[in-house]
Amino acid sequence: MTTVERGPVTSEQAARESKLLAGVPTDLLVGGRWVPSSSEERFAVEDPATGLELTTVADAGVEDGAAALDAAVAAQATWGRTAPRERAEVLRRAFDAVVARTDDLALLMTLEMGKSLAESRGEVTYGAEFLRWASEQAAHVAGRYLPAPDGKQRVLVAKKPAGPCLLITPWNFPLAMATRKIAPALAAGCTVVLKPAAETPLTALLFAQVLQEAGVPDGVVNVVPCTRAGDVTGPLIADPRLRKLSFTGSTAVGKQLLKQAADGVLRTSMELGGNAPFLVFEDADLDAAVEGAMLAKLRNGGEACTSANRFYVHSAVAEDFSRRLAERVAAVKVSRGTEDGAQVGPLINEKGRSKVADLVDDAVSRGARVLTGGSRVEGPGYFYAPTVLADVALGSRLLAEEIFGPVAPVATFDTEDEAVALANDTEYGLVAYAYTGSTARALRLVERLETGMLGINTGVISNPAAPFGGVKQSGIGREGGEEGIEEYLETVYAGIADPWG
Ligand code: NAP
Repeated sequence: MTTVERGPVTSEQAARESKLLAGVPTDLLVGGRWVPSSSEERFAVEDPATGLELTTVADAGVEDGAAALDAAVAAQATWGRTAPRERAEVLRRAFDAVVARTDDLALLMTLEMGKSLAESRGEVTYGAEFLRWASEQAAHVAGRYLPAPDGKQRVLVAKKPAGPCLLITPWNFPLAMATRKIAPALAAGCTVVLKPAAETPLTALLFAQVLQEAGVPDGVVNVVPCTRAGDVTGPLIADPRLRKLSFTGSTAVGKQLLKQAADGVLRTSMELGGNAPFLVFEDADLDAAVEGAMLAKLRNGGEACTSANRFYVHSAVAEDFSRRLAERVAAVKVSRGTEDGAQVGPLINEKGRSKVADLVDDAVSRGARVLTGGSRVEGPGYFYAPTVLADVALGSRLLAEEIFGPVAPVATFDTEDEAVALANDTEYGLVAYAYTGSTARALRLVERLETGMLGINTGVISNPAAPFGGVKQSGIGREGGEEGIEEYLETVYAGIADPWG
């Protein structure tokens, strides 16, 4: 069984962590005030690298959720009428403030989520960019005015803030999933209640404090971490004052929320699970494909909705690709994310690690060859060795389910038709990756693959100017791009009598 160098946490590092944790707000943010939960209950947040408690956070209950929605509703009219330029400037200050707090936000994320500090810093940059992008969009929301085709009316199309929103976010990108929702919501003039994941509430709470300092008015952003998510969010979803639900998380929970939202015909955006295929054609640049595979698989330790989940490689190059990928994966530094040079940290919890282990065991029992990894890492925390599996049999569970860990299963194909059929053989459709030297093939894949996003000869996609989102059971709606802000705007059409008639 693999062991990893976790290294001692130096006393200097320990002091830095304690000081940061002591300064992070751990209560609920409701109407601009930091308050304990009405029950005074708190829950522990743990470091997945050690399994030890970092701190405790107020555990919102039903009343606290209701108070947060009251505050968002009370702030809506004023924020919705705040001049777009003023909203833009608040968001721009928020961007600057987040960037200025990069070190703190990154360390906090690493502590509660486990990813390496380098990746956490990358997430701060990525997450902050949504604030800058939204600040640039805020003053550009426009309607239109045109004559009806028969000339008998004028058509006025106006855009309005959708109204108070409930935002529910997952633990894997504790900052970016929050900024990707809060930034466009605020730009559009909406107020929000944020329910962060129970595993990673601290980043969201510090971010909320940064927003306050940047001048976000009281009640515009409310934050209610909790351990009984459904109990707290159910009544909010049923409340007719709530006008929008935006969720990022698993497809299973997304489906439940869609059912709840249907009762009130509540507007929803759903950023759900993925099962990304990574296709390597025989005409691909193999060095580039291996490099891209490292990024697409090991970014965020494989705990990303965009992680390459299934590698389908042309049989002429599969052996070469698998061997080279395994060499690179075997050399990855696995450790607590705060260690120098850390690349892959622990998984989020034992449940996540057991799922990864079960999926690998299932594939191996069906004949997969373990080229590297293939087991848990001994010791504290929830580490799993980065793994490459070759000759994975079709029908193995990990080709159908989200692995959410550092495991790369490789299977083969012989024709483009076969590759496309394998890639599309899933209920998910978030992202796909393809490596090919043929431009025509790349353009055919844009048309043939059932996916919301496609990386061509690149292992990482997503930026604030691009519409992020999925098709099929990977979701509804987009975050980022021109489309992102539309999720938080209502369209009103006024028909006006012919001014000449
Ligand atoms: P999850 O279990 O679905 O949880 C996501 C959020 O929903 C958490 O805040 C969770 O709270 C909350 N939640 C759970 N049950 C709920 C309920 N019955 N009612 C209301 N809220 C509920 O997902 P996760 O494990 O945190 O995140 C991993 C999943 O997110 C993966 O499937 C991944 O693909 C997906 N994801 C998608 C995108 C995208 O953009 N498409 C991005 C990132 C992640 P608790 O923490 O209290 O359970």
